[in-house]
Amino acid sequence: MSNSIYLDNAATTPVLQCARYTYIKYMDNFYNPSASYTGARKVREDVEKARATIAELVGADPEEIYFTSGATEGNNTVIKGCLNQTGGRLVTSNIEHHSVLNLVDNSSYVIKADLLGHIDPYDFDDAIDDTDIVSIMMVNNEIGTVQPIKKVVEVAKIHNAYVHTDMTQAVGHIPVDCHDLGIDFATASGHKFGAPKGIGFMYIRKGVHIPSLLIGGGQERGQRSGTENVAGIMAMAEALKYNSNKIVDNNQHLRLLQSYLLSKLREEKFDFFMNSTTMPKDYAGIFNICMRGLRSEEIVEFMSTLGIYISAGSACNADNGEPSHVLRAIGLTDDEAECSIRISMSLATKKDEIDSFVNALKTFVDIKAAV
Ligand code: PMP
Repeated sequence: MSNSIYLDNAATTPVLQCARYTYIKYMDNFYNPSASYTGARKVREDVEKARATIAELVGADPEEIYFTSGATEGNNTVIKGCLNQTGGRLVTSNIEHHSVLNLVDNSSYVIKADLLGHIDPYDFDDAIDDTDIVSIMMVNNEIGTVQPIKKVVEVAKIHNAYVHTDMTQAVGHIPVDCHDLGIDFATASGHKFGAPKGIGFMYIRKGVHIPSLLIGGGQERGQRSGTENVAGIMAMAEALKYNSNKIVDNNQHLRLLQSYLLSKLREEKFDFFMNSTTMPKDYAGIFNICMRGLRSEEIVEFMSTLGIYISAGSACNADNGEPSHVLRAIGLTDDEAECSIRISMSLATKKDEIDSFVNALKTFVDIKAAV
């Protein structure tokens, strides 16, 4: 790992030192927070402190935060729970993560993103009513587009519909404020911002009630049964604190890296086009291009032999062999989608790592041209 160049931060992030230390500390401090002896009561207090920290950093009250195993569980809990409760329909977009998109059925209304990967909040204005849940992601995991969630809420609330945002790629990367947005539900995964895998949280607005996906001991005030992942929760709070303090620096750094990478690709006269945007409203850390005529799988494999880790799409799609639904949604042909690569950067990404990536790409193109 130490000599590799990691450019796949949208798939997962390295565990931050502060999160790692905290995780280890609470592996030793192993008591069940539901037990009633002194040591366990202290663990319960710590978990509640972590909940308050996370709540403050995402603009929520502590009692609105529920710990989960991650965004897949959160998205399923929120959408299935809400629809079971109301008997309504799912209104979503065609560029969501599969943990949302695979819940679409015949009754659902699916908004089409435009060719840049943005959705129009007025698209569903005529199509919804008060039993529906509108689920729109905040930041797209393949192309980094940021959706106008506040506007989505404005339109949805005219019809009294519920609004959920999958903020998995937003938390710790761009400012997030649940109360200010006016959403009813939000979901996230810790491993996208420096915490270990298998921990996440959901926001459920005060006064909104949905059934739990998991039946059991009634932990998390009945909203998510199962003994809490204490070490994960504590590490996630630390990671979010760390990242939240660096959001401004992070975005400035990513913007510079994005323009540096783009100018290098142009300088080298690669035959490519952009799938992600350079618009200031979009997230600069996720860079996606189509390398005309070059199979992304081969590029990823070649890079991997040099210790450079990028992605041919989202890591979650990597196994199904299908061209990316997001890239097809923004107008790419299957062929173009299969020639597209994602480079996702972080505050730790250095310019010379971008240089190494570009040089490797040049070598790959030269090899291909020679055969
Ligand atoms: N939503 C988005 C936008 C994601 O990027 C991901 C992970 N790629 C998920 C949901 C699912 O997260 P997890 O696999 O941690 O449950």
